[in-house]
Amino acid sequence: MTDTAMYPPQPSPDADTLGFWQATAEGRLAMCRCQLCGLWHMPPLERCRECAGPTAFEPVLGTGSLYSFIIQHHPAISGYTENLPYAVGLIELDEQQGLRLPARIVGIETSAIVCDMRMQVVFEQLPGGDYVVPVFTPAIP
Ligand SMILES: [Zn+2]
Repeated sequence: MTDTAMYPPQPSPDADTLGFWQATAEGRLAMCRCQLCGLWHMPPLERCRECAGPTAFEPVLGTGSLYSFIIQHHPAISGYTENLPYAVGLIELDEQQGLRLPARIVGIETSAIVCDMRMQVVFEQLPGGDYVVPVFTPAIP
């Protein structure tokens, strides 16, 4: 096993995703939003799919509801072998119906995870590089 096999895959920011990663580096969650009509986009787009207006990354609250999730039991991705089993969810953010962000779910036993539970973002340093990634944990009522 090489050193790189011990770490999770690293993000590769491009023009469409750089704003997302710049925000997470500062412990903020930001999503792509149309600057004309206000529609949020995930995945990020250079132009709005509704009005073709320009987009930019804007901060979001980092709260939402768990739309769907899987429990990962097999070491499919390097760097997470010691965390098995773990959950990956689609969190529907409060800003807009259908605005869903995939993320790991932490701070709860996988057997206790249910759809529609309220979630909030927290940030983790991604091992093996300089990136900070958003993960979600059950929201404190
Ligand atoms: Zn628009």
